[in-house]
Amino acid sequence: MCLFCDIIEGKIPSTKVYENDYVYCFDDIKPVAPVHTLVVPKKHFDDIRDMANSEEGSKYMGEVIKAIDEVAKIKGLETGFRVINNCGADGGQTVMHVHYHVIGGIKLTEKMI
Ligand code: AMP
Ligand code: ZN
Repeated sequence: MCLFCDIIEGKIPSTKVYENDYVYCFDDIKPVAPVHTLVVPKKHFDDIRDMANSEEGSKYMGEVIKAIDEVAKIKGLETGFRVINNCGADGGQTVMHVHYHVIGGIKLTEKMI
């Protein structure tokens, strides 16, 4: 069982921002900024390492970048935003289906952490 696969399949409700054949994008349930949207490949990859080592990983990564741009436009993030990927236990990943946090709507600090 995977939480994000269930969200993609509509078994668990979410607030959709954008969707196409390759990605599903929805608002994070615990936003850390006025805009906090998750960009999730519809194909299950555990994390960025799994993507890198899968035949279809590059295709989906290209779609992720395009979806990030779509989300930024939909959310009105013309002046910029931050993209975060947490990878593995030490990276703070809590949902083991790769995803990219698009965070913005506020001037973010230049510090990474
Ligand atoms: P990460 O810690 O990078 O694995 O991020 C997982 C993110 O998923 C967290 O920011 C959670 O708030 C978010 N999250 C967990 N459950 C849900 C849910 N049902 N709907 C939307 N976002 C969720
Ligand atoms: Zn999954």
